[in-house]
Amino acid sequence: MIKRAVMALSGGMDSTSLLLRLLADGAHVSCVSYHYGQKHSIEVQRASNNIEYLQSKDLTVDHKIVDLTDAMSLFESALINEDKDVPEGHYEEEQMKATVVPNRNAIFASILYGYALSIAERERVDVSIALGVHSGDHAIYPDCRPEFYQAIDHAFTTGNWGSERVHFFLPYIEGDKVTILKDALLASDQMNLHFDKVFENTITSYNPDQDGRSSGRSGSDVERILAFHALDLVDPIEYVEPWETVLEAALETERKHKDAYYKEKLTDMQYYVTRESGTERAFTGMYWDEKRTGKYTCICCGHLLFTSEMKFDSGCGWPSFHSEHGRAAIEHIEDRTHGMIRTEVRCSKCQAHLGHIFNDGPRQHGGMRYCINSASIDFQEEES
Ligand SMILES: [Zn+2]
Repeated sequence: MIKRAVMALSGGMDSTSLLLRLLADGAHVSCVSYHYGQKHSIEVQRASNNIEYLQSKDLTVDHKIVDLTDAMSLFESALINEDKDVPEGHYEEEQMKATVVPNRNAIFASILYGYALSIAERERVDVSIALGVHSGDHAIYPDCRPEFYQAIDHAFTTGNWGSERVHFFLPYIEGDKVTILKDALLASDQMNLHFDKVFENTITSYNPDQDGRSSGRSGSDVERILAFHALDLVDPIEYVEPWETVLEAALETERKHKDAYYKEKLTDMQYYVTRESGTERAFTGMYWDEKRTGKYTCICCGHLLFTSEMKFDSGCGWPSFHSEHGRAAIEHIEDRTHGMIRTEVRCSKCQAHLGHIFNDGPRQHGGMRYCINSASIDFQEEES
């Protein structure tokens, strides 16, 4: 359990959630917020508001604001330079690289490391440097990846006396925005805090208006909005447009992003079948006559659907299975297209269309026949 921690509190939801987690676990936390010329400097004000709220609840948290504006005015980034626009779209898209601030996390971590060493010396305690970095950042921000933190930990440990008392703590590094928000809900319940009040005092947008309201269209906004939606929550911060409108736009951005991803990853036939609910012609797919031992997974997302023991020869020309894997949780949906009433089956993880299910399967296995397109599945042979 961490007793003493320092952390960068940006005023966004990741670092705020991390702060809640540390406090719920009983740590004394020293937060640092940075002014670095960011257009969304209102985040520092929001961070201060939250610190005040948490202190009013008798939590052991203090806050320093460090101004790096002069130093970082030397840098090029859409987050800093007035002549560059903050890009809109999905948070994993190439244009989001404009929002990288060169070497930012190395600079922030460097200051935190010096601060942690000083606290360790003054208070004679071990100090954790807690950071809210997560996997959603990894695509665009190389300085949020685990190998980066391993490398600077090594460098700082090598370059300092007393470094055995200081450790990096990155609890969300394998998680995503949804993991983080879930943890924040739990932590605020543990401390009897008002979750909405805490998150009203955060901002994720890189281009808020003068009142701190966001369009909801920047990559970081979209990621945040989708995380609240995934947990059936309404984001308590105010957007320029109503929640329903920004949510709809974020879902549309996500849909387009996924679509582009699948177009790139799949063959034309695989795309046609899984994303457009198409059907391959009988006796043409790769697996209708496949008899080897192994596993069948979703071609889009790799989710385990069937094993070879569930496969049987139905003579229909498509791979046929009498049962699904125990954890597959395949979705069954009524399908009234082509003048028939059938039951369509879809991957529960990515909603890929797989095929249909009929009740003319082998009786001794329950009588079902999953009639699956070869194009929807991938096969991995295993030794029998
Ligand atoms: Zn899938």
